[in-house]
Amino acid sequence: MWKKFDLCCDGCGYVLDEEKQSRLSLPVQEREFGGHCPSCSGDLLNARYRLDGHDFGHWETEVRQRCASLWRYQELLPITHSDNAVTLGEGWTPLIALPQLGEAMGLEKLYLKDERQGPTATFKDRQATVAISFLKEQGINEIVLASTGNVAIAYSAYAARAGMRVYVFFPDGVAKAKIQEASLYGAQVMSVGGTYDEAKAAAAQFASEQGIFLDRALKHLRGWKV
Ligand SMILES: [Zn+2]
Repeated sequence: MWKKFDLCCDGCGYVLDEEKQSRLSLPVQEREFGGHCPSCSGDLLNARYRLDGHDFGHWETEVRQRCASLWRYQELLPITHSDNAVTLGEGWTPLIALPQLGEAMGLEKLYLKDERQGPTATFKDRQATVAISFLKEQGINEIVLASTGNVAIAYSAYAARAGMRVYVFFPDGVAKAKIQEASLYGAQVMSVGGTYDEAKAAAAQFASEQGIFLDRALKHLRGWKV
């Protein structure tokens, strides 16, 4: 596979190159993962792919022949071994023409990308399949997160498929049906009885105390300290 990328800090420009990334293959117990830039503790590391010299015409032709799934773009997704892809058939939701609404809005063509038809009925399935696959490849088998609903449901479903335990902290005001759905997928659910920020704080404290990976957002997933 020709996938090669550096991780670059938005804040200070620190580059986590291949050699540094290779140290991420240390056993989980030997890693320190803080989800921040090792240099400035910034929150956001962007993947910068090194794509020079590749025949993209050929690749595009090959991609079009692959299965109708988000994972057809596997070379641009952050796992190395395709066996670690945790998939429930996400992506490839229908694009539905809305001619009447389009006309009412004065638009010649209007389409709806209907993400309700994903595995857990929201676009969060796309985030969950990539995040849970990456965590599986890293050997993580327990995660903690805070959510107002849809992320919890999607992560719980994909974690169940991966055999991963999930602890979800919900703020006040989340529909009971959403909490129940996450629970049905096997998540351990906690209602914090406060704001979303308070739920995130409770999740962070629990993760720290228990030594469990805290998932703060997809953008942090490869921001491990090395
Ligand atoms: Zn930085």
